[in-house]
Amino acid sequence: MLHSSWIELDRLAVNKNIRYLKKRIGPDVTYVSVIKGNAYGHGIEQYLPLAEAAGVRHFAVYDAFEAQRALQVKAAGTQLIIMGMLDADQLDWVIENDIAFFVFTKERLDAAICEARKQKKKALIHLELETGMNRTGLDEDELPFIAQEIKKNSRYLSLQGVCTHYAGAESIANYFRIHKQYEQFNKLCKSLKKSGIVPLAYHSACSAAALIYPHTKMDMVRFGIAQYGFWPSMETKMNNLLSEEVKFTRDPLKAVLSWKSRVMSVKPVGQGNFVNYGNAYLSTKNMKLATVPIGYHQGYSRSLGNSGQVLIRGKKADVVGMVNMNMFMINVSHIRGIAAGDEVVIIGKQGEAKITVSSFSELTKMVNYELLSRLPHQIPRIIV
Ligand SMILES: *Cc1c(COP(=O)(O)O)cnc(C)c1O
Repeated sequence: MLHSSWIELDRLAVNKNIRYLKKRIGPDVTYVSVIKGNAYGHGIEQYLPLAEAAGVRHFAVYDAFEAQRALQVKAAGTQLIIMGMLDADQLDWVIENDIAFFVFTKERLDAAICEARKQKKKALIHLELETGMNRTGLDEDELPFIAQEIKKNSRYLSLQGVCTHYAGAESIANYFRIHKQYEQFNKLCKSLKKSGIVPLAYHSACSAAALIYPHTKMDMVRFGIAQYGFWPSMETKMNNLLSEEVKFTRDPLKAVLSWKSRVMSVKPVGQGNFVNYGNAYLSTKNMKLATVPIGYHQGYSRSLGNSGQVLIRGKKADVVGMVNMNMFMINVSHIRGIAAGDEVVIIGKQGEAKITVSSFSELTKMVNYELLSRLPHQIPRIIV
């Protein structure tokens, strides 16, 4: 293999998570798989077909680049939705390929109508409404104009959805804000309906909203983090663990991703020597150290120096000294028979031992979302 590490995706975990989440939303709610951020680091090209095989027919990406990658691997009949960035000069390609997209400005709506007219076909749009996140979304006072435009150009538009996004449903601290957003969304939807605007679907929920606030499920749920096997937050997990209707004894979500490498070399280091650059680590006894051929260039954060752990031969080994650009060192003094080529687990399981993404995130102060989505694109993704 050309690469010094690889990422494994667990097909059974994908099936298990999707089956569970589908059960939670019921048969009448459409499951949208959010695969922005390179499918939260899992790899769009590898994850999308797995989710399709588990029965998913809708995928949401961030921009045209991700849509293009998804388009290349998706089955006919699978719907793509761009939730974020789109340049006006990408709209022709997007409409030509029947890719749906969020509309959160008048300018984008006008550009879509203009391009659809040129192509003599309908642009598939989801109106994103501002309800209190104050990021993207059509403001209340723009809606009468938007409604007029949509009615006037119904030949060129197919209103797939009206939607909004919550400002942090995973945190209990945002409870009131989320609730107000929900109320505002309902109010705006009602007034759009009064002016004759009725979409094929209303949607608002991400993973956390769907799992804690069932009334936010509406016609569609946009599942991101949960389908990869992570609870959006400890609160979300506890809420589900303790609530009467869904009580579980074993975690119904299973991590899909593992990240693995191999020992590059092993060397003894005598007591009283500094190890690797500078004075970050001083050996306090005779030690056996091993190098792992990944560093911050490959996505292993510098902040894990002297604090990270990996698994080798089923045991935990500590990172000693700094994380370099392309390698770091681990203390393997307590593990017998270590040799170059031994498998090293950076995230995942080995025997009974386990390194979770969250144990990692605590050390690096990164949330799951950031750590996963920053896993470099060039690391090969293998399905197991
Ligand atoms: C990322 C995102 C989601 C999915 O969020 P999760 O918390 O990962 O489930 C849903 N909707 C929008 C608009 C998003 O940007």
